[in-house]
Amino acid sequence: MRSRSQIGRAPSSPSSSAPGLHHEVATTDMNHPTSRDFDIAIVGAGPAGLAAGLYAGRNRMRTALLEARAPGGQLLNTELIEDYPGQKSILGGDLAAIMLGQTLHFGAELITSPVKRITVDDSGMKHIETGEGEVRAAAVILTAGGNPRKLDVPGEVEFAGRGVSYCAVCDGAFFKGADLAVVGGGDAAVEEGLFLTRYARRVTIIHRRNGFRAQSILVEEARRHPQVSFILNTVVEAIAGGEKVSGVKLRHVNTGETSTLPVGGVFVFVGFVPNTGLVDAHLEHDSAGYYVTDPHTMMTNVPGIFAAGDVRSQLTRQITTAVGDATTATMAAMRWVEDTKRRVEVGTAEQAQLVA
Ligand code: NAP
Repeated sequence: MRSRSQIGRAPSSPSSSAPGLHHEVATTDMNHPTSRDFDIAIVGAGPAGLAAGLYAGRNRMRTALLEARAPGGQLLNTELIEDYPGQKSILGGDLAAIMLGQTLHFGAELITSPVKRITVDDSGMKHIETGEGEVRAAAVILTAGGNPRKLDVPGEVEFAGRGVSYCAVCDGAFFKGADLAVVGGGDAAVEEGLFLTRYARRVTIIHRRNGFRAQSILVEEARRHPQVSFILNTVVEAIAGGEKVSGVKLRHVNTGETSTLPVGGVFVFVGFVPNTGLVDAHLEHDSAGYYVTDPHTMMTNVPGIFAAGDVRSQLTRQITTAVGDATTATMAAMRWVEDTKRRVEVGTAEQAQLVA
């Protein structure tokens, strides 16, 4: 799916910005910017990235918004949104378009290119390698989101695109009148399961335990829905079929009893894997791979690198929290940039005095 940031440190700077170690100020690049030099570079243009771009641009920061594909992130995989304040009900694609328009209006520069690697030089400047050359920035905000987690069972890869899907909005219409299995017990499984009733004859939500991570309002709605049923305490062991999916093999986790549920399609919603890729060696992350950030500033353990949205370790991953965290990250990043510029100015003045 989307941008796949790889973050590393420039080999020549083994200690310059490592956690807890002395951090050098930025070079004179800060005072003599080129068209590839920015105050803040934002990696990923989902709701967090778009909010960060809005705040940074509106506050007159030179802002690069780097995105490999269409801006909007997970909004583009979401049909209807009813829990974004100010919008009683809005299509995900429409909200993405509104957010993008507002962000660009305030001057953020959208660069449509995959981010391949980010390094930090001895001065603290971040070098972002993209498909279209290098971009430099004093601060980086990582908002690259993530990808759906896979079930990892036989048949999942083989039937991908032939009955196995991770996006109800994208693929639901291909399953008119079908019986479908939805796997998972979180918000995505229940919400997308409900969405699929528009097309499917019957939707069976298969969940590995009795309790749900999904909000109870969603679970209650699904329980009331005449086309939705649940199979609980059960895991999918394999996805079977010929040309296309014909069923899922199930195992009850308590009794071990196995069975087959005939379905024409399987929608997998078992969580999310953050786009942190090769970052782990350098940026602190939790056991699930999400970046750990300072709660007051959203800064990672690397000075000047911030994270917000689905890449950040947190309780929940809502559009509202992504936007809120991105606001905090951007305010902190702006202070970081201003402080860095001041230190550069002081350093330059002291050097000039020494020379004189
Ligand atoms: P999630 O909340 O992490 O839920 C993942 C579900 O999949 C859990 O029920 C988990 O079971 C199950 N699961 C994980 N691995 C599995 C496996 N290998 N086999 C079978 N089941 C497995 O993920 P999500 O539903 O994608 O939601 C991600 C975030 O986005 C959440 O914070 C959610 O609140 C948010 N979201 C919000 C909305 C909204 O309407 N506002 C919509 C979609 C998503 P266990 O419970 O047993 O661990």
